[in-house]
Amino acid sequence: MTDHDVIVVGGGVAGLSAATFTARHDFETTVIDAGDAILRRNAHLENFPGFPAGVNARLLLAMMRDQAERSGCPVVEADVTSVEETDGEFAVETAGGDRYRSRYVVAATKNEVDYLDPVEGVGIVDRGKTFVDCDEHGRTGVDGLYAAGRLAGKPHQAVVSAGHGAEVAVTLLEDDDAPFYHDWVAPEGYFTGRDREVPPGCEEIDDEEFRRREATSLEVLRAYVSDPYPEGPRRHPSLRDAE
Ligand SMILES: Cc1cc2nc3c(=O)[nH]c(=O)nc-3n(C[C@H](O)[C@H](O)[C@H](O)COP(=O)(O)OP(=O)(O)OC[C@H]3O[C@@H](n4cnc5c(N)ncnc54)[C@H](O)[C@@H]3O)c2cc1C
Repeated sequence: MTDHDVIVVGGGVAGLSAATFTARHDFETTVIDAGDAILRRNAHLENFPGFPAGVNARLLLAMMRDQAERSGCPVVEADVTSVEETDGEFAVETAGGDRYRSRYVVAATKNEVDYLDPVEGVGIVDRGKTFVDCDEHGRTGVDGLYAAGRLAGKPHQAVVSAGHGAEVAVTLLEDDDAPFYHDWVAPEGYFTGRDREVPPGCEEIDDEEFRRREATSLEVLRAYVSDPYPEGPRRHPSLRDAE
């Protein structure tokens, strides 16, 4: 049994994005992912902001996972079989029998909802595929349980799911009692130069620190893009089964 602030179930773009935000705010976060993000099936991702000529979708997922891990959030490969809620705390169990205890759960599993069966009060919407009933910020009918990305009924686009993951995480932080303003890195003096405290969640960095971080980000990016990413598109499961 491990104590956590947040367990994110599902490590596609929605879950990884949500986890990066909660982990960056020092919420002990773990992503548990079964390893079959739908974006792995994309042939070449050409509408995700920041990639002028597109990107191998598997590379994007690898970079997003790395970003979550660098923010302090481990990504565990496992199938979550059940989530139970008792007295405002969640018990999350995997097929391998591992159990995690957490204050919050972010469900980001696209159309997979079976593991939520034991949670009383969570609404499931069946439109041929299943979605979790939630408000636009991902709040479900159960305190502490959020839904992110496609599972929350968002349009079937990667950037929308990633953005919604971030929105859900910020909503969770705002719903918590922890102080939070924005997740911003600002230049030195941006707040303090105007006699303002640096707000919680924000950081001011000086020029030297900016150069240091830029050098690291360039080095990390170079390592990713120096060669073609070894993994190509994954076929539809029905075609994989026929192989
Ligand atoms: C062929 C194809 C091409 C596409 N091309 C584009 C495109 O060009 N541009 C675009 O914007 N969008 C595209 N999309 C859509 C885009 O991939 C999705 O809308 C988006 O990635 C959804 O992200 P998500 O995080 O909500 O879900 P997912 O990425 O599916 O993440 C869900 C994760 O949850 C995991 N999971 C499920 N159940 C469990 C469980 N019980 N325990 C643990 N983990 C679990 C899954 O393994 C998966 O990793 C494409 C989709 C397909 C099928």
